[in-house]
Amino acid sequence: MTAAGRLPTLVVGGGIGGLATALALARAGRPVHVIEKSAEFGEIGAGLQLAPNAMHVLDHLGVLPEIGKHAVYPSRLVWMDAIAATRITEVDLGAAFKERYRHPYIVMHRSDLLSVLLDACRAERRITLETRREVAAIDDLGDGARARCADGTAYEADLLIGADGLHSTARRLFSDDAPIRDGYVAYRGAIPIERLSTHAGLDNVVMWVGPDMHFVQYPVRRGELYNQVAVFRSPRYSPLSEDWGTPDELDAHYAQTCDYIRGCLALMWRDRRWTMADRKPIARWTKNRIALMGDAAHPMYQYIAQGACQAIEDALALARLVAASPDDLPAALAAYEQARTRRTARVQITARAMGALFHLDGIGAVLRNEMMATRSAADYTMLDWLYGHRV
Ligand SMILES: Cc1cc2nc3c(=O)[nH]c(=O)nc-3n(C[C@H](O)[C@H](O)[C@H](O)COP(=O)(O)OP(=O)(O)OC[C@H]3O[C@@H](n4cnc5c(N)ncnc54)[C@H](O)[C@@H]3O)c2cc1C
Repeated sequence: MTAAGRLPTLVVGGGIGGLATALALARAGRPVHVIEKSAEFGEIGAGLQLAPNAMHVLDHLGVLPEIGKHAVYPSRLVWMDAIAATRITEVDLGAAFKERYRHPYIVMHRSDLLSVLLDACRAERRITLETRREVAAIDDLGDGARARCADGTAYEADLLIGADGLHSTARRLFSDDAPIRDGYVAYRGAIPIERLSTHAGLDNVVMWVGPDMHFVQYPVRRGELYNQVAVFRSPRYSPLSEDWGTPDELDAHYAQTCDYIRGCLALMWRDRRWTMADRKPIARWTKNRIALMGDAAHPMYQYIAQGACQAIEDALALARLVAASPDDLPAALAAYEQARTRRTARVQITARAMGALFHLDGIGAVLRNEMMATRSAADYTMLDWLYGHRV
């Protein structure tokens, strides 16, 4: 069965990337249908950092006033040594930062961002949304695409966007690769801020780094909740097993960290863990009238907090190029690929390298700390390529 005749645009996946893409395309005049496999559009109960390169897109989409109702605007990013509890370096996110990048750096709850995007999509007459539709296969029809769902329904569209995340079905049209894991696992969640007897305040995003681990903390939801992410490398990692990165291993790995971190760790949720993965950059992610975006196109480690930011950048780039060549969609998609592959590959590779820097031990960690101690908090030169980018 083919649902609803031929659609102008079908977006597969209703996460942050898929909804931002639907909104950007619709605001550029294109009708969009979004299908999502889950029963509800939703995000997990944890935080998200959004840098100026994504804020500028969200501004363009007209959702910043709503985002401002939920966000926290920190004044610095602080790197701390997780063992010695000493400050390594920091980035000043104050007036000079905002002036340089023309937008602030914010932190917010993922669910709040998803709700803002979802409400904006629901208010947009060109967007229709559907849940419980899991795409099992995608056919390239040359002049369009067909998405076949696990429940037997099918959709044909003039333009199909694969926004279906790390385990993307759409990506199979472009690559037979698989997610790459190297044994890192994350525990994360946001808890009422009053449950912490001490924390780093509403002004700080804090990144504690140590041997094969890092621990991130920042406030979300106007400062009512405190987000914590505990990452470490499991000594029992095996690609053939799921039994690694357990709460016992978390406690054993974090036993070496300072008293403050161990106190905070006691409040972490332990009922769910996320195994970390990325994939290598690929050179092609568009074909005829099919394109990938977000984690489906360029999944990356979260170590520079850019996965969602890059998905949001993709959304606007894609919408602008499709709007510029509505009668030649393959050319529009080729231009989108050209515009985005190099940048997102650089972000993917930088995220990996930054993880290696966080997770140093011994003399490597000593050298890292010494070298970073000399940089000024207002030195943004290494950040310009990332935060200064405009779609
Ligand atoms: C611990 C951690 C912290 C992070 N912190 C940050 C941060 O601070 N800042 C930042 O910018 N990024 C961060 N990221 C990365 C960010 O979460 C992702 O890059 C981003 O969510 C990707 O969005 P997406 O829409 O492309 O994919 P997803 O969020 O994975 O969404 C894909 C959607 O598609 C649906 N779907 C999947 N398969 C199908 C199918 N076959 N049919 C239909 N629907 C389907 C899924 O249910 C989902 O709703 C972090 C990641 C992790 C793991």
